[in-house]
Amino acid sequence: MNTFLRSIDVRKHRRALNESALIAKAFIKSFNWLFPSRCIQCDCILTDMEEAFCDTCYIGLPFVENCCARCGQSMPGDFHCCGQCLNKPPNYDNCFCAFEYANPIDDLIVQCKYNQRPDLIERLALSFVTELKANEIPMPDILIPVPMHISRLRQRGFNQSLLLVKAISQRIGVPYSTSIVYKRKNTKPQAGLTLKQRQLNLNDSFEFHSKDQLRHVAIVDDVFTTGATAREITKILKRNGVDYVQVWGLAHTF
Ligand SMILES: [Zn+2]
Ligand SMILES: [Zn+2]
Repeated sequence: MNTFLRSIDVRKHRRALNESALIAKAFIKSFNWLFPSRCIQCDCILTDMEEAFCDTCYIGLPFVENCCARCGQSMPGDFHCCGQCLNKPPNYDNCFCAFEYANPIDDLIVQCKYNQRPDLIERLALSFVTELKANEIPMPDILIPVPMHISRLRQRGFNQSLLLVKAISQRIGVPYSTSIVYKRKNTKPQAGLTLKQRQLNLNDSFEFHSKDQLRHVAIVDDVFTTGATAREITKILKRNGVDYVQVWGLAHTF
Protein backbone atom coordinates (compact mmCIF):
# COMPACT_ATOMS: atom_id res chain seq x y z
CA MET A 1 0.00 0.00 0.00
CA ASN A 2 1.44 3.43 -0.90
CA THR A 3 1.90 6.20 1.70
CA PHE A 4 -1.11 8.24 0.49
CA LEU A 5 -3.53 5.29 0.77
CA ARG A 6 -2.10 4.33 4.16
CA SER A 7 -2.63 7.85 5.56
CA ILE A 8 -6.30 7.78 4.37
CA ASP A 9 -6.66 4.44 6.12
CA VAL A 10 -5.22 5.84 9.38
CA ARG A 11 -7.55 8.87 9.21
CA LYS A 12 -10.58 6.59 8.70
CA HIS A 13 -9.48 4.42 11.62
CA ARG A 14 -9.06 7.49 13.92
CA ARG A 15 -12.47 8.86 12.88
CA ALA A 16 -14.07 5.48 13.69
CA LEU A 17 -12.34 5.47 17.10
CA ASN A 18 -13.55 9.01 17.86
CA GLU A 19 -17.09 8.09 16.86
CA SER A 20 -17.13 4.97 19.05
CA ALA A 21 -15.71 7.00 22.01
CA LEU A 22 -18.51 9.57 21.56
CA ILE A 23 -21.16 6.80 21.40
CA ALA A 24 -19.73 5.21 24.58
CA LYS A 25 -19.73 8.62 26.35
CA ALA A 26 -23.35 9.29 25.32
CA PHE A 27 -24.33 5.80 26.50
CA ILE A 28 -22.69 6.31 29.95
CA LYS A 29 -24.36 9.75 30.26
CA SER A 30 -27.83 8.39 29.47
CA PHE A 31 -27.22 5.39 31.77
CA ASN A 32 -26.27 7.76 34.62
CA TRP A 33 -29.35 9.83 33.90
CA LEU A 34 -31.63 6.76 33.94
CA PHE A 35 -29.86 5.05 36.87
CA PRO A 36 -28.08 7.77 38.91
CA SER A 37 -25.60 6.75 41.64
CA ARG A 38 -27.19 6.79 45.04
CA CYS A 39 -25.78 7.19 48.54
CA ILE A 40 -25.35 3.71 50.08
CA GLN A 41 -26.64 5.00 53.41
CA CYS A 42 -29.54 7.42 52.77
CA ASP A 43 -30.24 6.56 49.10
CA CYS A 44 -30.22 10.20 47.92
CA ILE A 45 -28.89 10.91 44.41
CA LEU A 46 -25.16 11.67 44.45
CA THR A 47 -23.52 14.62 42.73
CA ASP A 48 -20.56 14.10 40.37
CA MET A 49 -18.18 14.94 43.26
CA GLU A 50 -19.64 12.38 45.69
CA GLU A 51 -18.76 8.67 45.73
CA ALA A 52 -20.54 5.94 47.68
CA PHE A 53 -21.84 8.34 50.38
CA CYS A 54 -23.40 11.80 50.05
CA ASP A 55 -21.38 14.51 51.87
CA THR A 56 -23.86 14.65 54.76
CA CYS A 57 -23.60 10.91 55.43
CA TYR A 58 -19.82 10.91 54.82
CA ILE A 59 -19.01 13.40 57.57
CA GLY A 60 -21.06 11.35 60.05
CA LEU A 61 -19.05 8.13 59.45
CA PRO A 62 -17.21 6.56 62.43
CA PHE A 63 -13.66 7.53 61.33
CA VAL A 64 -10.71 6.26 63.33
CA GLU A 65 -9.57 9.64 64.70
CA ASN A 66 -6.35 8.80 66.49
CA CYS A 67 -4.76 5.40 66.58
CA CYS A 68 -1.53 3.57 67.38
CA ALA A 69 0.55 3.61 64.18
CA ARG A 70 1.83 0.12 64.95
CA CYS A 71 -1.30 -1.90 65.80
CA GLY A 72 -4.07 0.47 64.70
CA GLN A 73 -5.82 0.51 68.09
CA SER A 74 -7.83 3.69 68.82
CA MET A 75 -6.19 5.93 71.43
CA PRO A 76 -7.01 9.26 73.02
CA GLY A 77 -4.70 12.24 72.49
CA ASP A 78 -1.76 12.63 70.12
CA PHE A 79 0.25 9.53 71.02
CA HIS A 80 1.68 7.50 68.12
CA CYS A 81 2.27 4.20 69.90
CA CYS A 82 0.08 2.46 72.48
CA GLY A 83 1.41 1.02 75.76
CA GLN A 84 0.85 -2.53 74.54
CA CYS A 85 3.03 -1.96 71.43
CA LEU A 86 5.76 -0.30 73.51
CA ASN A 87 5.89 -3.58 75.48
CA LYS A 88 5.16 -6.22 72.86
CA PRO A 89 4.47 -4.91 69.33
CA PRO A 90 2.75 -7.13 66.73
CA ASN A 91 4.95 -8.68 64.01
CA TYR A 92 3.48 -6.39 61.31
CA ASP A 93 5.02 -2.92 60.99
CA ASN A 94 2.03 -0.66 60.54
CA CYS A 95 -1.76 -0.82 60.65
CA PHE A 96 -4.26 1.49 59.00
CA CYS A 97 -8.01 1.02 59.42
CA ALA A 98 -10.22 3.80 58.10
CA PHE A 99 -13.31 3.25 60.26
CA GLU A 100 -14.45 1.93 63.60
CA TYR A 101 -16.70 -1.13 63.19
CA ALA A 102 -19.77 0.91 64.11
CA ASN A 103 -22.95 2.25 62.52
CA PRO A 104 -23.38 2.39 59.50
CA ILE A 105 -20.12 0.68 58.42
CA ASP A 106 -20.85 -2.51 60.43
CA ASP A 107 -24.31 -2.82 58.93
CA LEU A 108 -23.04 -2.26 55.36
CA ILE A 109 -20.32 -4.92 55.79
CA VAL A 110 -22.84 -7.40 57.21
CA GLN A 111 -25.21 -6.70 54.29
CA CYS A 112 -22.37 -7.31 51.86
CA LYS A 113 -21.43 -10.66 53.41
CA TYR A 114 -24.77 -12.17 54.27
CA ASN A 115 -27.22 -10.47 51.87
CA GLN A 116 -25.02 -11.17 48.86
CA ARG A 117 -24.29 -7.47 48.14
CA PRO A 118 -20.67 -7.51 46.92
CA ASP A 119 -21.30 -4.12 45.26
CA LEU A 120 -21.37 -2.52 48.73
CA ILE A 121 -17.80 -3.53 49.57
CA GLU A 122 -16.59 -2.18 46.21
CA ARG A 123 -18.18 1.19 46.98
CA LEU A 124 -16.85 1.22 50.54
CA ALA A 125 -13.40 0.75 48.99
CA LEU A 126 -13.75 4.23 47.45
CA SER A 127 -14.16 5.78 50.91
CA PHE A 128 -11.23 3.72 52.19
CA VAL A 129 -8.99 5.14 49.44
CA THR A 130 -10.10 8.70 50.27
CA GLU A 131 -8.97 8.13 53.87
CA LEU A 132 -5.77 6.36 52.81
CA LYS A 133 -4.76 9.41 50.78
CA ALA A 134 -5.88 11.91 53.42
CA ASN A 135 -3.68 10.13 55.99
CA GLU A 136 -0.71 9.98 53.56
CA ILE A 137 -0.22 6.24 54.11
CA PRO A 138 2.90 4.99 52.23
CA MET A 139 2.16 2.81 49.22
CA PRO A 140 3.29 -0.85 49.21
CA ASP A 141 4.68 -2.77 46.21
CA ILE A 142 1.79 -5.21 46.26
CA LEU A 143 -1.58 -5.80 47.94
CA ILE A 144 -2.62 -9.21 49.30
CA PRO A 145 -6.23 -10.01 50.21
CA VAL A 146 -6.77 -12.24 53.25
CA PRO A 147 -7.26 -15.59 51.51
CA MET A 148 -10.33 -17.72 52.04
CA HIS A 149 -10.26 -21.52 52.02
CA ILE A 150 -11.83 -22.96 48.85
CA SER A 151 -14.73 -24.65 50.72
CA ARG A 152 -15.63 -21.37 52.46
CA LEU A 153 -15.41 -19.57 49.12
CA ARG A 154 -17.86 -22.04 47.58
CA GLN A 155 -20.29 -21.41 50.47
CA ARG A 156 -20.24 -17.61 50.20
CA GLY A 157 -19.63 -17.28 46.49
CA PHE A 158 -17.09 -14.46 46.82
CA ASN A 159 -14.18 -13.34 48.98
CA GLN A 160 -15.00 -9.86 50.29
CA SER A 161 -11.29 -9.12 50.93
CA LEU A 162 -10.53 -9.82 47.28
CA LEU A 163 -13.34 -7.53 46.11
CA LEU A 164 -11.99 -4.83 48.38
CA VAL A 165 -8.41 -5.33 47.12
CA LYS A 166 -9.46 -5.22 43.46
CA ALA A 167 -11.30 -1.92 43.93
CA ILE A 168 -8.44 -0.38 45.96
CA SER A 169 -5.81 -1.60 43.49
CA GLN A 170 -7.67 -0.04 40.57
CA ARG A 171 -7.88 3.29 42.41
CA ILE A 172 -4.31 3.57 43.69
CA GLY A 173 -2.51 1.79 40.84
CA VAL A 174 -0.78 -0.78 43.08
CA PRO A 175 -1.02 -4.41 41.84
CA TYR A 176 -2.53 -7.21 43.90
CA SER A 177 -1.90 -10.94 44.06
CA THR A 178 -4.12 -13.83 45.10
CA SER A 179 -1.43 -16.45 44.62
CA ILE A 180 1.34 -15.28 46.98
CA VAL A 181 -0.50 -16.35 50.13
CA TYR A 182 -2.78 -19.36 49.93
CA LYS A 183 -5.05 -20.84 52.64
CA ARG A 184 -4.42 -24.55 52.74
CA LYS A 185 -6.31 -25.48 55.95
CA ASN A 186 -10.03 -24.96 56.45
CA THR A 187 -9.93 -23.60 59.99
CA LYS A 188 -12.82 -23.25 62.48
CA PRO A 189 -14.66 -19.88 62.48
CA GLN A 190 -12.75 -17.35 64.63
CA ALA A 191 -15.81 -15.72 66.26
CA GLY A 192 -15.83 -16.07 70.03
CA LEU A 193 -12.15 -17.11 70.29
CA THR A 194 -9.47 -15.16 72.17
CA LEU A 195 -6.34 -13.88 70.37
CA LYS A 196 -4.35 -16.88 71.65
CA GLN A 197 -7.03 -19.37 70.55
CA ARG A 198 -7.27 -17.66 67.15
CA GLN A 199 -3.51 -17.89 66.71
CA LEU A 200 -3.58 -21.63 67.55
CA ASN A 201 -6.53 -22.15 65.21
CA LEU A 202 -4.67 -20.45 62.32
CA ASN A 203 -1.27 -22.02 62.98
CA ASP A 204 0.32 -23.16 59.68
CA SER A 205 -2.91 -22.63 57.77
CA PHE A 206 -1.31 -20.39 55.08
CA GLU A 207 1.23 -21.18 52.38
CA PHE A 208 3.59 -18.82 50.53
CA HIS A 209 4.25 -19.04 46.77
CA SER A 210 6.45 -16.43 45.11
CA LYS A 211 9.83 -16.44 43.42
CA ASP A 212 9.96 -12.62 43.34
CA GLN A 213 11.74 -10.70 46.07
CA LEU A 214 8.97 -8.75 47.79
CA ARG A 215 9.91 -5.78 49.99
CA HIS A 216 6.79 -3.94 51.06
CA VAL A 217 3.41 -5.69 51.24
CA ALA A 218 -0.03 -4.63 52.50
CA ILE A 219 -2.45 -7.30 53.76
CA VAL A 220 -6.03 -6.15 53.16
CA ASP A 221 -9.23 -7.26 54.90
CA ASP A 222 -12.69 -5.82 55.46
CA VAL A 223 -12.67 -6.12 59.28
CA PHE A 224 -9.80 -6.61 61.72
CA THR A 225 -10.87 -8.02 65.05
CA THR A 226 -7.81 -9.16 66.99
CA GLY A 227 -5.21 -9.09 64.21
CA ALA A 228 -4.58 -12.87 64.60
CA THR A 229 -4.98 -13.53 60.85
CA ALA A 230 -2.75 -10.57 59.95
CA ARG A 231 -0.07 -11.86 62.39
CA GLU A 232 -0.15 -15.36 60.88
CA ILE A 233 0.14 -14.01 57.31
CA THR A 234 2.90 -11.57 58.38
CA LYS A 235 4.82 -14.48 59.93
CA ILE A 236 4.87 -16.33 56.62
CA LEU A 237 5.67 -13.17 54.59
CA LYS A 238 8.62 -12.20 56.81
CA ARG A 239 9.89 -15.78 56.85
CA ASN A 240 10.06 -15.46 53.06
CA GLY A 241 12.03 -12.22 52.98
CA VAL A 242 9.42 -9.43 53.06
CA ASP A 243 10.89 -6.42 54.93
CA TYR A 244 7.84 -4.31 55.71
CA VAL A 245 4.26 -5.46 56.23
CA GLN A 246 1.30 -3.12 56.48
CA VAL A 247 -2.19 -4.14 57.50
CA TRP A 248 -5.05 -2.28 55.82
CA GLY A 249 -8.62 -2.66 56.99
CA LEU A 250 -11.86 -1.02 56.10
CA ALA A 251 -12.83 -1.20 59.78
CA HIS A 252 -11.57 -2.52 63.09
CA THR A 253 -13.37 -3.69 66.19
CA PHE A 254 -10.61 -2.87 68.71
ZN1 LIG B 1 -26.42 9.95 52.29
ZN1 LIG C 1 -0.41 -0.39 69.44
